[in-house]
Amino acid sequence: MADPSADRACGAGLVQAPAPARLTVLSGPSGVGKSTVVARLRRASPRIWLSVSVTTRAPRPGEADGREYRFVSESDFDAMISSGELLEWAQFAGNRYGTPRAPVEERLASGVPVLLEIDLAGARQVRRAVPGALLVFLAPPSWAELVRRLTGRDTEPPEVIQRRLEVAQVELAAGSEFDITLVNTSVEDVCHQLVALTEAPSGQ
Ligand code: 5GP
Repeated sequence: MADPSADRACGAGLVQAPAPARLTVLSGPSGVGKSTVVARLRRASPRIWLSVSVTTRAPRPGEADGREYRFVSESDFDAMISSGELLEWAQFAGNRYGTPRAPVEERLASGVPVLLEIDLAGARQVRRAVPGALLVFLAPPSWAELVRRLTGRDTEPPEVIQRRLEVAQVELAAGSEFDITLVNTSVEDVCHQLVALTEAPSGQ
């Protein structure tokens, strides 16, 4: 005789928990065009949730608190580190940036793919904290093109640009640590590839 509890054990009639979604990390040197790709991806695939980082840097013109970043004080950032609220955090060009852990974990558990756009140090921390995460490196078409993009940005003083170039050199060399490299020759193509990678179920 069939055991009636077997059906229940198989989950018959129960609401199935969604399969956990994939956490994808997009990293790469400053100036490579990560934020342009992410802005394009936001329009192309509203299903993918883009984490909003906290930062101690001042807002740039046009940036709104809670949209590009949550802008916090040094002491607020310290408190978030001590309470374990950050999945990862890093110092970049004199400011601190971090990913709030809870919203990322909630989305993944409910089956929503999550994308983090963070620096190399942060990507390494995610690799350790979330072994199933997919690490994507966005590379420039060439070094000359990266220098052109970084020096063409007139919102930063020269010493900040110089510092960013130095960081970018170190970051370019780290591309081999990533699962996949996408070369940013076309925002459209990169966005298309990134949507496909991000929406794949975790573990594929
Ligand atoms: P920006 O000041 O130009 O917005 O960002 C500077 C760098 O910080 C970029 O390389 C960006 O990817 C990185 N970044 C932004 N948010 C985070 C974060 O939450 N964690 C880490 N580790 N880096 C971040």
